[in-house]
Amino acid sequence: MIYLPVAHADASYVIPLEGGRWVSNVIPVHVSGGTVWQQNQALQAMKLWNQAQLWFNDKYFPNSSGYTFEPGDASAPVQVTMLNSSIIIEGVLGWTDYRLENGIIKSAKVGIAAAYPEQVVLVLSAHELGHVLGLGDDVLCCKKDLMNASPIVHNVSAIPTTLDLYALHVLATVSTVPRFVWLANQIPYQSAVMSPSLINDFDSCYDGISARSERTASD
Ligand SMILES: [Zn+2]
Repeated sequence: MIYLPVAHADASYVIPLEGGRWVSNVIPVHVSGGTVWQQNQALQAMKLWNQAQLWFNDKYFPNSSGYTFEPGDASAPVQVTMLNSSIIIEGVLGWTDYRLENGIIKSAKVGIAAAYPEQVVLVLSAHELGHVLGLGDDVLCCKKDLMNASPIVHNVSAIPTTLDLYALHVLATVSTVPRFVWLANQIPYQSAVMSPSLINDFDSCYDGISARSERTASD
């Protein structure tokens, strides 16, 4: 759905939200289906969100912990399925379904059409994981934003922007989810800066997932 903001007509950077937020700061994600390299794009996208939030919160909100994706098992609240196809339904390369209760996201299911080059699958995965976190499709500004409604058409980067990350900060701190978030004036709109020092050490968890998936992967 497309909503038009009316109260902040002068603001440039705005993103809609999906109407729900996570209560837990740690969000386990189970990735299944497709091939090992396709699953690895989803795992890499989880890392991008984690690291981008570390960078953003360190810079602007040092007391905020943000949300952390971690690899989970088949009982994880987030289930990501990599589909070895080029389309889900007409015009749709990725989808996210929520179970919402009173504005709280209880679980989410994601499907990714993963029969594309790695970078495309990474962008699709990162975009859908943005939905998992409660971000909506950006149809109002920012053609090059990861959360743009047509990320592949607009050839966006898989790296979240300060608009996306500020919206996550709002989601992590409010009790009622607003319909839109406008980027705070003092924060410039830009992509997150990924520093190697921000890379955390849960690669070892990924190895476990890869080992499991190799037994079920189709190639
Ligand atoms: Zn979307």
